[in-house]
This record gives sequence, structure tokens and C-alpha cells, in this order.
Amino acid sequence: MDIYDHPTFRMACQQFDRVAEYWQIPADEQARLKFPKRSMTVALPVHMDDGRTKVFTGHRVQHHLTLGPTKGGLRYHPAVALGEVAALAMWMSWKCALAGLPYGGAKGGIACDPLHLSQTELERLTRRYTQEMIPFIGEKVDVMAPDMGTNEQTMAWMMDTYSVHTGYTVPSIVTGKPVSIGGSLGRRESTGRGVGYLINRTMDTIGLEPGHSRAVVQGFGNVGSVAAFSLAKYGVKIVGVSDVSGGLHNAAGIDLWELEKYAAAKRTIAGFAGAEHVTNEQLLELPCEILVPAAMERQITGGNAAKIKCRILAEAANGPTTPEADVILDQREEIFILPDILCNAGGVIVSYFEWVQDLQSFFWTETEVMDKLFRILEGAFLQVLALSRKQKVSMRMAALSVGIKRVQEAKKIRGLFP
Ligand code: NAD
Repeated sequence: MDIYDHPTFRMACQQFDRVAEYWQIPADEQARLKFPKRSMTVALPVHMDDGRTKVFTGHRVQHHLTLGPTKGGLRYHPAVALGEVAALAMWMSWKCALAGLPYGGAKGGIACDPLHLSQTELERLTRRYTQEMIPFIGEKVDVMAPDMGTNEQTMAWMMDTYSVHTGYTVPSIVTGKPVSIGGSLGRRESTGRGVGYLINRTMDTIGLEPGHSRAVVQGFGNVGSVAAFSLAKYGVKIVGVSDVSGGLHNAAGIDLWELEKYAAAKRTIAGFAGAEHVTNEQLLELPCEILVPAAMERQITGGNAAKIKCRILAEAANGPTTPEADVILDQREEIFILPDILCNAGGVIVSYFEWVQDLQSFFWTETEVMDKLFRILEGAFLQVLALSRKQKVSMRMAALSVGIKRVQEAKKIRGLFP
């Protein structure tokens, strides 16, 4: 399908093809599994604060509808493109299936730079996008959540716009919204805390002491900052962090609490006094026990995979490692990979809890949410580890295999209409 052609979509297809080949999935089933079911691209005219009208492009891709509604984030970033969104939707399908959630994968995005838009411009853009998506979404059809460049406020505007359209309040149309309007306790921190939990589990599995371990985190947004704090609470020293402006390094450890205050005030970590500046490329090659890419796709590539110096590569971002890098990392047996669809699944798992709570209008305590989250992550971690050891395949191959084979089974048993 040429409309999705993009380096990230090619990468997601390559990963799928490797799994399909390994398990000898028949060609006709492969085509049914791989390509997105539906996609929609919209033009979004928005009044800017200076009086101009600017037209933005937005996308939404629903990958498969076999197991329930589709579920996935909405991204605001200048590089958003249909093929990238389609790849992220495909990964969401395998992630939801791996976690045993009754969802297909979806993803959305608007090509824009949220750092250069005012709050009022962001609100108008979000409301216009939601309005354009109304024929395409619904609480039993497709449920959005925050991703890069979006947050609780974005979800609140989406919920409000949708509810005004229906004439009554529909909290379950989005997840990751503020707790005061039907969000779940623990959702904001869920992805990063899940990353922390799984890294701690991996340290235990391979015999690393948290108190003697150093971590480097690329991306200090929702996921990266919470993952960093979570690791620090387990006793890990955070020696490197970065955001889009570049990285910070301090071998003695970075004061996360000071950095968080600084980043909240400046909207960037650039210029923070408690560490020296490094580039994002240098950051990925810093010596550490735990490397956490928590920003963009395609950061660990054929060019730097041989140079990273960690024992655990915890993929908090979606698609941070290219297939070329995987070939190199497969040879580096000292590195344990927590693949993205497992590592960052905490976000969609608690999104699922939020959706269930909204549908029932019955809300859980934070302890209940976290307890249920860690149980699902633990089960998924053990399944993937067991399959990887049994078949002598990488953790990525094992994780994708569990997810893809569950969707394959569901499609087979439902049959094909007509
Ligand atoms: P965010 O917008 O809150 O933070 C993104 C961070 O990455 C920011 O610090 C930004 O400055 C930085 N960044 C952007 N481009 C960069 C670059 N080229 N180099 C280095 N840093 C860069 O986004 P987020 O919600 O934390 O999402 C981060 C990643 O985690 C994405 O890949 C997203 O798909 C994935 N993810 C997010 C969730 C969630 O619940 N938010 C769930 C699962 C996966």
C-alpha cells in the first residue's frame, strides 16, 4: 500500500515480515494482518492569534477492528506523516494484544510544532481536529489518548468537543484526561512507572543491583521524566537526560527534582546548571547500565548500535530501534532489550482501566490501578521471556510473536465476511 510509504512504516512492516516468516504465517493471512483497516486525513483551518488562517494536516489510522474498538494516542509534532501514524497504529495492535486488551491499534497526529503555538491556538486546532474526526470515532469505535506533544488538557478539549456534539457528557471518548472529568488515577504516570517496573524486573533477572546502576534517558517529557523518577526511586543513579534541545550529562548524578522545576519553568532542559551539555547523539553513547530512549522513533540505528554502552535497552518510545540496529544488537548478547510494545505498554493498560471506569461510572483507587497494572505487566514480561528462551529468539521477536499471533487467531476464528 503505497499511501503509507515512510521509513517508519517500512520498519514496522520489516518487523512484521520477520515474525510472519518465522511462524510461517500464510501469505493471505499476512496481508489481512499487516495493512491498516481504515485511515483518514483531514485539512484543519485554524484562526491564529495574529489574525491569519493557517491550514494544518491531521491523520487518524485504525489498524484492525477484530478485537474491539481501536485505541491509540494523538501526536503533535512537525514530522507527523500518514505512514508514521500507520506504523504507530500497527505497533499499538500488537501491544494491545500482548497485554490481552480488547482493542485494535490506532494512532493519530497533526503536523504542527506545539512549542510554537499558543494555548488558544492549540485549543482551536484540537477542537477542529475532533470535529473533523466525529464520523470516524466513538467510545465503542476508536478512543484517543495523549502521545508526544499532547497532554491531559488536549484530551479535555477533545472530550468537551465530542460531548457538545452528542449533547451529553461522554468521558469514555478519550483516555488520559484530567481526573476531575473522569480520568483515572495513575494514568499520567502509568507509562513511565511501567517502564520503571519492567526495568527493575529485568535488573533482577540479569543480576544488576539498582544501587550500583546508572541510567541515561533520552526525552524528558511525560514518559521519560516519570521513568527517570521511577528508576531513581528504585535507587538507580540518573547520569544523562535530554530533550529536543540536546542532552545533559553528570557522572555524579543529575538532581531530577531541581531539573523538573527548571524544565517546568523554562519548557526546556537547555541551560540547566547541574550538568554539562552533550548532543542527543553523544547522550545515546554514554556509559551506563540502563539506556532509555523515550522520545522519537529510529534513534538506535545501524550507525550507533555497536557504540551504545548499556546492559539494558528499555524502549520507552515507540520504534526507537531500527531493524538494521536489531541485527547488530542480536550479536551483542550482553544487552537485554525490553522491546517497545512491552516496555511502554503501561500507558495503554491504564488507558484501558480508565475506559472501563468511565463506562461503568465506577472509579478505582490509585493502589487498585497500580496493582492491576503491575500484574498485567508481570504476566506479559514472563510470557515474552519464556517464549524468547524456549525459541532462542530475541525479546522483540518474542513480544511481537505473542501480539501478532493473538490477532491472527482472532481473525481466523471470526472468519471473513461475507
Ligand atoms: P512528550 O511530548 O511528553 O515528551 C517527548 C520528549 O521528547 C520531550 O522532552 C521532547 O523535547 C523530546 N524530544 C522530541 N524530539 C526529540 C529528539 N529528536 N531528540 C531528543 N528528544 C526529543 O511525549 P511522551 O508522551 O513522553 O512520549 C514519548 C515517547 O513515548 C513517544 O515515542 C511516544 O509514542 C511514547 N509513548 C508515550 C505514551 C504516553 O502515555 N504518553 C505511551 C506509550 C508510548
